[in-house]
Amino acid sequence: MTVLRGLWKHDFPMSQLASWRAGGVAEALFIPADLTDVGTFCHEDPRAGNALFVGHGSNLLVRDGGIGGVVVRTAPGLCAMRQEDDLIYVEAGVGCPKLAKFAAAAGFADAAFFAGVPGTIGGALSMNAGCHGSETWQHVKQALVFNDGKRALHDACDFETGYRSVRFKNGDTPFFAAAWLHFVQGNITVARSRVRDLLRRRAQTQPLGEPSCGSVFRNPPDGTAAAALIESCGLKGRAIGGAMVSHKHANFIVNTGGANAADIENLIVLVQSEVAAQTGVMLNTEVRIVGRKKTDD
Ligand SMILES: Cc1cc2nc3c(=O)[nH]c(=O)nc-3n(C[C@H](O)[C@H](O)[C@H](O)COP(=O)(O)OP(=O)(O)OC[C@H]3O[C@@H](n4cnc5c(N)ncnc54)[C@H](O)[C@@H]3O)c2cc1C
Repeated sequence: MTVLRGLWKHDFPMSQLASWRAGGVAEALFIPADLTDVGTFCHEDPRAGNALFVGHGSNLLVRDGGIGGVVVRTAPGLCAMRQEDDLIYVEAGVGCPKLAKFAAAAGFADAAFFAGVPGTIGGALSMNAGCHGSETWQHVKQALVFNDGKRALHDACDFETGYRSVRFKNGDTPFFAAAWLHFVQGNITVARSRVRDLLRRRAQTQPLGEPSCGSVFRNPPDGTAAAALIESCGLKGRAIGGAMVSHKHANFIVNTGGANAADIENLIVLVQSEVAAQTGVMLNTEVRIVGRKKTDD
């Protein structure tokens, strides 16, 4: 077997990685050195089939009982980004805000929405991250993936994409290693000011100084904002342990200090049941919940 050049950590506390600053331990964390290294892992390591690929953990709740097997972190190893004619080639571990800045410097104003998404491109590809009327997959031309240990290049039309969901048409969810994104060429000054405006608006409306995972719930299909429903039910400020529904944005649950994953998950369930009881709407989660519950949870 080819020797892997990346970093291995064992019994790694996922609270150090996840933006909620909560969660259990991963049996093993692998941080590949680069694209070739992660390719070797996917192709040769029998544990790759069950590995969990993560980026910045900004949409991830890891239960307190932790994760068996390997967690593969794309950042910072998969970090290449370059302009190729009218496309941007970007690897999975690049931060979305970094892509937004890079694209703005090239005059691609319609990439500005990435500035407000604190995850990686890999996470954005997996989640179809979006905001302000734009979504990641509107801009994907091709994606480089590993599926069943094999490396393959796919056109965007090979995927079924929806609101915060992406999969192959046969239902498989691959590991995204890189993508070629297209944007509309415009003016550099306009592109940069769009990024600045967007970040200013976010700072006014979101609790950016507190650990969170962004919007916890998907907006219901009828277009109502989940935040408006939660607020209308009087749930702002509702807390379980160290987890609290944000006073600033009702669709955010913040870790006020010392929250464990069970506090957060229990608060998610409480919000769902209160909103369902008061409005008849069942909110579905946008955050991905992984790992085992602690036996005493
Ligand atoms: C303050 C704040 C604001 C936010 N605002 C927005 C917003 O406006 N719009 C929005 O869409 N999201 C938003 N988010 C949520 C989050 O940033 C996005 O969902 C982001 O795309 C997650 O990227 P990540 O790298 O952190 O993924 P992670 O949280 O690490 O993983 C999320 C999911 O993607 C999978 N995944 C990660 N990398 C890969 C890969 N390379 N291949 C395959 N699967 C992978 C993981 O297994 C997991 O299921 C916000 C979060 C915060 C904290």
